[in-house]
Amino acid sequence: MAEGPGRNVKARARLNREILTTGWGGRRRMVEYKAYWVIPVDPRYTSRTCAACGHVDARSRRARAFECVACGHADHANPNVARIIRRQGPALLHGGERSGLPTPASRETDRELAA
Ligand SMILES: [Zn+2]
Repeated sequence: MAEGPGRNVKARARLNREILTTGWGGRRRMVEYKAYWVIPVDPRYTSRTCAACGHVDARSRRARAFECVACGHADHANPNVARIIRRQGPALLHGGERSGLPTPASRETDRELAA
């Protein structure tokens, strides 16, 4: 069965157009400018990782659905990835890899991080 265009079509079209115009680098610079700080996380395998048990398997991901082949945890794929990324940020802040430390959006933020 073919899927319809879905929700927020105009907003997604605008976002896609913006990404094409500025590229991911421009998008990242804008987020860094607007955000208090940015914690870059490694996105590799996030779409294949279970937010409940941490098992990594490509078979768990089926289009927009996620169903862990190890523990049976089921969720929409996007919230599953969001939970994993949300956990990675604080983990990187507290003893993570140097490359994962937050990128301060301003010098003021940089001083706060050093304190
Ligand atoms: Zn699982």
